[in-house]
Amino acid sequence: MKILIAEDDDTSRRMLSAVLGKWGYEVTATADGVRAWEAFRQPDAPRLAILDWMMPGMDGIEVCRKIRAADTQNPPYIIMLTSLDEHQDVVQGLKAGADDYVSKPHNNAELRARVGVGQRMIELQAERNQAQDALAHEAMHDPLTGTLNRRAILRSLRRESARARRENRTLSVGLCDIDHFKAVNDTYGHQVGDDVLCGFVQRAQSTLRTYDLLGRYGGEEFLVLASGGAKVSETSLYERLREAVERNMISTRGADVAVTVSIGVAESDGKDGVDDLLAAVDAALYEAKDGGRNCVCRSGM
Ligand code: GH3
Ligand code: MG
Ligand code: MG
Ligand code: MG
Repeated sequence: MKILIAEDDDTSRRMLSAVLGKWGYEVTATADGVRAWEAFRQPDAPRLAILDWMMPGMDGIEVCRKIRAADTQNPPYIIMLTSLDEHQDVVQGLKAGADDYVSKPHNNAELRARVGVGQRMIELQAERNQAQDALAHEAMHDPLTGTLNRRAILRSLRRESARARRENRTLSVGLCDIDHFKAVNDTYGHQVGDDVLCGFVQRAQSTLRTYDLLGRYGGEEFLVLASGGAKVSETSLYERLREAVERNMISTRGADVAVTVSIGVAESDGKDGVDDLLAAVDAALYEAKDGGRNCVCRSGM
């Protein structure tokens, strides 16, 4: 683990560096607060800081305040090192955002124990962040296909619709429904059906542009959000997607399965509500189904 030491006294700094290095920590040492603060703004910043209180330029308290004011998911653990060990000084240090303090001259065993506590807190924080990220990912993604789930794609739809309105742009929405998908399940079984859904998502993702959004709207229905482009090119986007599905069979654990997709498309300047937009793509999709499937229909709205 990386530890930053900021201490203006050369002897103390060398001793601290040596002892922390001996305990297996990767030490960066600076003699002033300004450098310490700079070290924390680097991408791979130290996870734990031992800051002297009194330093030229920027003192430890100020560094502490700045670190705490920064917006980060990974705040470092801060130990203040100080000979100012009067009660109110300790209170001031903790209020500025220090996690702990060690009085000077320090005792090695105590320092080692306190750094150990810090390391434990950092590790707990990292685990918590990981669990939180995993939960956030789970809450937004479809477990089968890995694409955005209904909640997430609808949230994106509301956001993109508001943006289209604000920025005077066109938002294009496509509702894709795999044709006769029930027959795939009936013929090959549900597991193969599941594989087809995953294969469809992969194909859609490789056809769409990186800034288009794809989400699972329902069983075999997927919503595409394409923002900002001209109408003509958006229509060809859906046509490309339809073609990509039709052109090659989808490999599954059981068989290679030929499927096609029908797509209903509507465009919006964001001024109509999202519900109206969804109703429009739904109507266009019905038209595509009525028109024989394996085609793209644009809403007249
Ligand atoms: P259409 O061309 O009119 O869309 O016909 P369809 O058979 O695709 O439509 P229908 O709505 O009758 O059937 C959709 C099927 O999708 C029924 C349902 O069992 C299946 N399905 C929904 N979700 C899943 C899933 O997660 N896995 C599998 N294997 N099948 C699913
Ligand atoms: Mg000092
Ligand atoms: Mg359907
Ligand atoms: Mg279908």
